[in-house]
Amino acid sequence: MPRLGILALQGDVREHQATVQSLGIEPTLVRTPQQLEEVDALILPGGESTAIAHLLVTSGLREPLANRLNEGMAAFGTCAGLIALSAEVLDGRSDQWSFAMLDVAVRRNGYGRQVASFETPIEVESLGLVPGVFIRAPRIERWDPQVEVLASHDHGDGEHPVLVKQGAVWGCSFHPELTSNAEIHGLFLQHVGF
Ligand code: GLN
Repeated sequence: MPRLGILALQGDVREHQATVQSLGIEPTLVRTPQQLEEVDALILPGGESTAIAHLLVTSGLREPLANRLNEGMAAFGTCAGLIALSAEVLDGRSDQWSFAMLDVAVRRNGYGRQVASFETPIEVESLGLVPGVFIRAPRIERWDPQVEVLASHDHGDGEHPVLVKQGAVWGCSFHPELTSNAEIHGLFLQHVGF
């Protein structure tokens, strides 16, 4: 049985944990390079992308995680996790780095600040409508043709992808872990062999 990890440095780790537990999976919380070695796929939670990037360095996880991702490990980033997996971060901190596993450019807080957070139904290919909770969400502003768009949303200024995948790496602008609907996690896990 493959083993699922959740990057547990900062952010809504418990919410992802509860969501995958509702699907019958007991995840490994990953805080060290040793724990990373035990897992076959990794969820990168929402939170604060600059804090997560900083803690990835201080925990010694940045390099081994970059290597695992380049070797093809499956990963699913939500919100700040999407930012961490993106090729380009717009409105990032000047020293902000990312793993560049998804050929997309994301704008931090691209849907507005905290007060502009919103919830809206999102139509996901093969699932139908799921609840979309957007909190200081990154907006995908450019995406390579290799990136598969599984869901888009028009927030009044045109359609932007909100759920994408490229190979075994998935990214989501919103927070499927903050609702009781586990379908997006289920779809990801099914695609990557769980
Ligand atoms: N805006 C946050 C950041 O740049 C992400 C917000 C979130 O994960 N809810 O890190």
